[in-house]
Amino acid sequence: ISQIARRMQRVRPSPTATISDQVRALEAAGRAVINLGEGELDFATPASISYAGIEAIVQHQTKYTAVSGTAALKSAIAAKFARDNHLSFQPDEIIAGSGAKQLIFNALLATVNPGQQVIIPAPYWVSYPDMVTLAEGEPVIVACEEHHDWKLQPERLAAALTPETRWLILNSPGNPTGAIYTARELEALAAVLADHPQVLIMADDIYEPLRYDQAPFATFAEVAPQLAERTLTVNGVSKSHAMTGWRLGYAAGPAWLIAAMQILQSQSTSNPSSISQAAAVAALTQPAGFLTGWIEKLDCRRRRVLTMIEQTDGLSANVPQGAFYVFANCQGLIGRKTPSGDALADDKAVASWLLSEAGVAVLHGSAFGSPGYLRLAYAVDDTLLEQACRQLKAACDRLA
Ligand code: PLP
Repeated sequence: ISQIARRMQRVRPSPTATISDQVRALEAAGRAVINLGEGELDFATPASISYAGIEAIVQHQTKYTAVSGTAALKSAIAAKFARDNHLSFQPDEIIAGSGAKQLIFNALLATVNPGQQVIIPAPYWVSYPDMVTLAEGEPVIVACEEHHDWKLQPERLAAALTPETRWLILNSPGNPTGAIYTARELEALAAVLADHPQVLIMADDIYEPLRYDQAPFATFAEVAPQLAERTLTVNGVSKSHAMTGWRLGYAAGPAWLIAAMQILQSQSTSNPSSISQAAAVAALTQPAGFLTGWIEKLDCRRRRVLTMIEQTDGLSANVPQGAFYVFANCQGLIGRKTPSGDALADDKAVASWLLSEAGVAVLHGSAFGSPGYLRLAYAVDDTLLEQACRQLKAACDRLA
């Protein structure tokens, strides 16, 4: 259609949304589908947080706020960074937005000149490359290896850096792998970046509290204070407090960058919802007692998926340390024949066959920049997950 702007040719629809559409279409046709494609916790937002939102409505906190967030929210965010990450930020170094997604997009839009490069380790969260291209930048995808637990190696980073590099994006715990960078690994990356003052570092910590086996957490600005002046730390309540629909994320970094993001936000979406901000104050200041139960539940589900993978010929996976995804190697299934005699050509064919044959939706690794893998999101009801695991194994066992 000629009225669509040329810049739209640079964006693909999110593959996560595409799979959800396929699932809805199958369901409309009367098929029962279990969706392991969605990046969302099935838990309810804790009641005390929801009530803080209701209270905000009743108290008429329903008007515009400061573009970058209320003073109360900024103070709660500063306290969170001090408490959990040993980072100290002033109010002008903090911005709240409508989800971490919007903040990441605004940060890129505010800093990337046409043709400048953004280093994205693969597998990556699906939105990073498209956001970079929308900002007229060039995504530089650096492939990471399963045997390095999917983590960017310093020598690979060094090889990818150029004078045109504007950003390095790091995501830990990672989507889609669940991998977590240790402080030492981040220090090694920081050592490489020390000689490249043109490069900004984005730490996407959205899955921070969702970790297993007591895995410790470190964020880039904390381990590399000498680079804090060019680090943006992004976080939010979507995953930490099961608040995806509230659309509330936050970021902290140098005041010049936050100011630019704020200008962009002031001319586009303005402040995030005043109601969500009030709920986020509760989320960030109240003790997160619910988290222990959540982690226990998620850990059981993680183990269930890993057991299924272990028992299924053709699948294998690293043990994810965080988030709620397993990134499974399905190379052993590629080339095998379905009962009707078709060979599965690639990970996309495997995912699509599993959807039609097992009635289970998973995402193909190539959507995350790593072909030959499948992402299974296990933040779903236990009974459904059990059923999904049985159906996935049975379907794979039918391949010849
Ligand atoms: N970053 C990563 C790695 C994610 O997986 C997601 C959501 O799926 C986001 C950011 C976006 O979070 P929000 O809901 O705060 O926009």
